[in-house]
Amino acid sequence: GTGPYNSDNIFAKILRGDIPCKKVFENEWVLAFHDIAPKAPVHIIVIPKQPYVSFIDFSKNATTEEIAAVMRSTGQVAAALNLEESGYRVITNAGQNAGQEVPHFHLHVLGGKALPPFPV
Ligand code: 5GP
Repeated sequence: GTGPYNSDNIFAKILRGDIPCKKVFENEWVLAFHDIAPKAPVHIIVIPKQPYVSFIDFSKNATTEEIAAVMRSTGQVAAALNLEESGYRVITNAGQNAGQEVPHFHLHVLGGKALPPFPV
């Protein structure tokens, strides 16, 4: 979550097509795909296509249009997966204390079961 962006990370490789993913949504700004180790029946990763390390980097440096696109796309993903009625959780981990594993900013969309009390 800190330091310069390093394009060796796994989500950068997915964006380049160097490794596959199970895509659920894509537009000009965003790619969304199934988490490889799902923590819930629905566990989707939503990433901006532009390189941001973490939430603060994204919030500082993305354009207003891009910030809106990421938020709207995340809502579209949750709606398309029929999570609105049953409920869902959207989270981001940033840096060491949050256990961020992949240093490309991403949102987790979790649902499909009763989730444990926050934090998951
Ligand atoms: P973080 O801990 O950084 O918030 O979350 C990283 C997430 O990426 C984890 O839930 C992990 O299971 C997922 N992940 C790690 N490597 C891959 C991969 O190669 N493909 C996909 N689809 N997900 C991955």
